[in-house]
Amino acid sequence: MTQQAEYQQKSRVLSRQTLALIEELGISASPVNFSVFYSYFEETNDDLVTAIDILRSNNRAFDDLQCHELHQRYVQQPREQETIETHTADLRDQIDHVLDQFSKDGDQAYLADVKNALNAVLSAANHSDDANDHLENRLDEISSEVTRLRDDLEKMKNEALTDGLTGIANRKAFDEQLRNAAMTTMESGQELSMLLVDVDFFKRINDNFGHQAGDQVIRLMANTLTQNVKGRDITARYGGEEFAVILPDTKLDDAETLAENIRHTVEALDVISENRSEVIGKITVSVGVACYQLGEPLARMIERADQALYLAKSGGRNLVMTENDLLVPLKKSAAKA
Ligand code: GH3
Ligand code: MG
Ligand code: MG
Repeated sequence: MTQQAEYQQKSRVLSRQTLALIEELGISASPVNFSVFYSYFEETNDDLVTAIDILRSNNRAFDDLQCHELHQRYVQQPREQETIETHTADLRDQIDHVLDQFSKDGDQAYLADVKNALNAVLSAANHSDDANDHLENRLDEISSEVTRLRDDLEKMKNEALTDGLTGIANRKAFDEQLRNAAMTTMESGQELSMLLVDVDFFKRINDNFGHQAGDQVIRLMANTLTQNVKGRDITARYGGEEFAVILPDTKLDDAETLAENIRHTVEALDVISENRSEVIGKITVSVGVACYQLGEPLARMIERADQALYLAKSGGRNLVMTENDLLVPLKKSAAKA
């Protein structure tokens, strides 16, 4: 006999036994009553079998209400419980994964709070024995809590990667994005370049016009850089008044051209302080440009960009220097002079 035929025959026997007992007990053959006694004969639920055997051996009369309670307690609830346990185990996995991701960057005390709050909700859902506490309510509760936590974590992640003053990527985000860009470059074989942009004599702005004016200039630089790069390029605040730009799929020469554009754009600005309406006047930037050599440590490219920037400073500022200029120093400043 095939497995299917065997199952069909067994279910016919069970159905007949169930209906016979329902008849004998004088209760209606409703779906609930049927499923209670079918489970009883099927003997897959020991607790249900024991409960019915005890009631029968005491000659207790069965009615629809009694059967409904048996159904609720031994058929329905274990199924709900199983659903909740599966859901909560999934959620726990998801949350653990998210928490792991952020545990290195995030506020540790806050993360511990989040974890405790979540565990409390999940345990409450798993161990609630309040009969009125319906499955759907409990799942809704868990799911809105998880949504809230996910939003919080998303916000935290964004905050951890964003510079507070300018709203652009911070140093940490820069490191992450540069690693991603290098990975893509190694896969595609395209070139990857970067700029380090530093405001010239920035300290004088702070000294002459106040710290707030200094902050304003930093925000202005962030906006100017963002507006001068396109699509995949990433602008980050690298330090106080120093910015980095990641240029995927860009050759050194093209990166140098872009750097020159940025230098010109900044030079053309006339800056007025917001708080005192004073003329801050001209601002200039120096730029170092480097291009990634496949396989080298990223720190080495950053180092070359930094050395090129230093060359631009020592060459008189308001200059763009590339890693090629490191081989023939002062070529540009001499040409400019
Ligand atoms: P150089 O042309 O060689 O780059 O000279 P510089 O004055 O720009 O450079 P220096 O490194 O001597 O000074 C940078 C100053 O930037 C020092 C620091 O007080 C200021 N600074 C750093 N972060 C901030 C900030 O967030 N806001 C303001 N207002 N100033 C900042
Ligand atoms: Mg500076
Ligand atoms: Mg600096």
